[in-house]
Amino acid sequence: MELACLDLEGVLVPEIWIAFAEETGIDALKATTRDIPDYDVLMKQRLRILDEHGLTLPQIQETISRLSPLEGAVEFVDWLRERFQVVILSDTFYEFSQPLMRQLGFPTLLCHKLEADDQGRITGYTLRQRDPKRQSVRAFQLLNYRVIATGDSYNDTTMLTQAESGILFHAPENVIREFPQFPAVHTYEDLKKEFIKASVRDLTL
Ligand SMILES: [Mg+2]
Repeated sequence: MELACLDLEGVLVPEIWIAFAEETGIDALKATTRDIPDYDVLMKQRLRILDEHGLTLPQIQETISRLSPLEGAVEFVDWLRERFQVVILSDTFYEFSQPLMRQLGFPTLLCHKLEADDQGRITGYTLRQRDPKRQSVRAFQLLNYRVIATGDSYNDTTMLTQAESGILFHAPENVIREFPQFPAVHTYEDLKKEFIKASVRDLTL
């Protein structure tokens, strides 16, 4: 039995915080896990910046509602779901993901949760668990699944390591250089080929 685990932002949809940073013109919100590998440090910085500018959850949701999946992502997910059970493992929040997941046909998503007050001010967040992507892969392996995983950034590398096969997709040069053990591809066509290669089944049928 094989399971495909996918990162969301940067792999299937645009980086949500970068889109919001561009819309608000606040450059400091452009930092992602590519720049700050410690997710807690990154999130605390983001929430502080939101507070400094008086920005709320509904304003971020408004930006997200205008985003679309990356070109070819919907077709890729459809292709993958015909061949694998697919689970998306993301460091995003359920409060952000809804409009984008709708466009992807609502595949299973494991991610985090935000806390907001009555005014929509984001007061905190609940991370599902420590090292959530790797722990999810471990749990699936305990259920006797072989896992093929793909992601684009530092927060994916423990998941890629834990999986039977890990593939970097759309990763920046520094990540590719630091993790030469993973094949690195940049188009969905090449990603399909890597999944076929990593599978123990004959998927050419
Ligand atoms: Mg990503």
